[in-house]
Amino acid sequence: MNPYQAPLTQQSKQCPRCASPHVERPNFTWWGGIVGPRIMGILKCKYCSYEFVGKTGKEATQAKRIYLFGAILVFSALGFVIGCAAVFVVYWQTD
Ligand SMILES: [Zn+2]
Repeated sequence: MNPYQAPLTQQSKQCPRCASPHVERPNFTWWGGIVGPRIMGILKCKYCSYEFVGKTGKEATQAKRIYLFGAILVFSALGFVIGCAAVFVVYWQTD
């Protein structure tokens, strides 16, 4: 830990790639929308655009995959339920 750095808070960490203190939580990402980066604790460097997991400082790639996988599971389950409901409604109305 570098004693000359600004004190670390929950919101401000330094970038693990370029050591810039200008990191922020992205408001919106292509892979997780608004919720994804909050759930996974993703932070993004304003200087080099590096995305990483706030807790571990590791690259966000794996967290993105986990989130996308979970999202796909949830959405396909949701799609299945809606699909079944639609089929049921159509079947019920034509009867
Ligand atoms: Zn950086």
